[in-house]
Amino acid sequence: MSTLLLKIKESINKNIEITDDILLSVFELSGAPLLELFSLTLELKEKYTGKKVNFCSIVSAKTGICSEDCSFCGQSAVAGKKEKKIKVNSLMPVSDIVEAAKIAKNNGANEFSIVTSGTRITERAELEIIADAVRSIKNEVGITPCASLGLMNYEDLSFLKQCGLEVFHHNIETSKDYFPEICSTHSFADNLETVKSAKKAGLKVCSGVIIGMGESRLDRIKMAKEIKELDVDNIPVNFLNPIKGTPLEGAEPLTPMECLKTLAVFRLVNPSKNILAQGGREHNLRQLQPLALIAGANGMLLGNYLLTSGRNPELDLELISDLGFEANLTGTAHTSQTEYV
Ligand code: SF4
Repeated sequence: MSTLLLKIKESINKNIEITDDILLSVFELSGAPLLELFSLTLELKEKYTGKKVNFCSIVSAKTGICSEDCSFCGQSAVAGKKEKKIKVNSLMPVSDIVEAAKIAKNNGANEFSIVTSGTRITERAELEIIADAVRSIKNEVGITPCASLGLMNYEDLSFLKQCGLEVFHHNIETSKDYFPEICSTHSFADNLETVKSAKKAGLKVCSGVIIGMGESRLDRIKMAKEIKELDVDNIPVNFLNPIKGTPLEGAEPLTPMECLKTLAVFRLVNPSKNILAQGGREHNLRQLQPLALIAGANGMLLGNYLLTSGRNPELDLELISDLGFEANLTGTAHTSQTEYV
């Protein structure tokens, strides 16, 4: 066993934080030592989350140009300057949201998230529609309801919790230090406040990141540790799939191995959490997608994203079966979606 692996195991066994230097060395591994690392991350994943794979799906219930300037997002105020702007749609009716949840459940998802564009929900009428959809998803469809509605205060989150919402999703997006490079219209602290309010309201929280936006490896380690600090339930790791017309349209793609090593770092730092290989996995992991479930992930987003297509759900179900895993169909303990695709 390599010295690096011994140091990592020692930190885990003594329950002490793995240093940034050790985690940076993970990115230098290749060949047999890298497989040793994946053996360890698989062991950790199975110890804490078993062999079941969580699948969630989303519906883009409100699509359109947002006043924020998140540079990865096709719906941001700075996206599509030269391209055709994305049409602004009003919030879907409850019946359409519920129909999408039924399709998600039939496809094998155990959680379903209502996603809206925009900084936050400002109109009470929209909150009531979302609350009605949540009630129906929980009581009629029988799938775990989640929502991703931008920034939100404790009062509105508590209201949705009373209506049956179980999970709230809000990404921190990137590290605290790198966040100003990605967004200037709201702050990293705003994101933390929403995550903390959701926890205070008694909701399970799904909060993760997007990698491949020009951040350093150290930024990714910091993200993993900042998320650990928040102690959320589910951690989606999204991989940038650059959208034409956004400031990040020409971003240098990460290699599939770099993506897998990042998932491994997230598992080493957050051994007991649900870690999801989410948006952009097809584009970034390419033929190595199955290895995401070895490197550290125990869940995936099933079906389409917000503005781009995912792959056929049957292929993902086949993938986990080929690996000897099984889909979690119990509708508990996980969520996630990506806001950017
Ligand atoms: S990620 Fe959300 S808040 Fe940011 S620009 Fe896109 S829709 Fe707006």
